[in-house]
Amino acid sequence: MTHHSELAADRVRWAAQLLRRTADRAGHIVAVSSADLSAQGGEPPLRAAAQPWRDLRPDQLADPQAFEHDPKQIWEWYAWQRELVAQSEPGSAHRIVAEIEARAENFALVTESIDGLHQRAGSRKVVELRGSIWRMRCTEEGAVFTDTRVPLPELPPLCTCGKLLRPDVVWHGEALAQEVLDEALGAARHCDLMLAIGTSGLTQPAASLPITAKRAGASVIEINPVPTRISWAMDAVLAGRPEEVLPRLWPLDQAASPGQATSE
Ligand SMILES: [Zn+2]
Repeated sequence: MTHHSELAADRVRWAAQLLRRTADRAGHIVAVSSADLSAQGGEPPLRAAAQPWRDLRPDQLADPQAFEHDPKQIWEWYAWQRELVAQSEPGSAHRIVAEIEARAENFALVTESIDGLHQRAGSRKVVELRGSIWRMRCTEEGAVFTDTRVPLPELPPLCTCGKLLRPDVVWHGEALAQEVLDEALGAARHCDLMLAIGTSGLTQPAASLPITAKRAGASVIEINPVPTRISWAMDAVLAGRPEEVLPRLWPLDQAASPGQATSE
């Protein structure tokens, strides 16, 4: 297959028809999205979240040793992220993914986002590979709590058992929860069509899900500004940023207001 860097109209039309047809005949559709989706397509507050904080890079902060060394500082960073996300709205890419789910009978979203913006846009069936900044986990007994308060009343937050709570996210060097991984792999193996959104921003194992789906017989549409290592295997490569390409694949329902669930 040959690729062109421009977004060819015939390829977009082909992909849009395949997506619509698959949704209409209740085929299984899986969307995979990277954490970049928010930073790039999101409002300015979210783009700030990708920047260094107190001269520390995200990879120095999302780290179990950093938490052990200074839990309060790591919590301050997450509290800051939670505030930025709370001030932001889901972007058009988030909203379109939610609208496809509202229309398709069999749909699942697998995401590396931890900010919950997909859910705020109306996505319901979401596999959060790397956890969520809106959940906390007891460092002692592993109990998980949802806590959406902004700001948090005390940092670092403590569990009812008195021990430290940590963000329920996957940090560097930590393994993904097996049941979450199984769910993602199962969705990839059983889908008819996969939308791989922002593939260059994906990390393993999410980055291999498009190939898993392809090997299992699915059609895979890649949406990414630049060609990737998996582009050669895709049925269609739509070069562009997700918030530019997705509205051409699936025109956004202008009646639906941002941040609200589309229910059907
Ligand atoms: Zn506890």
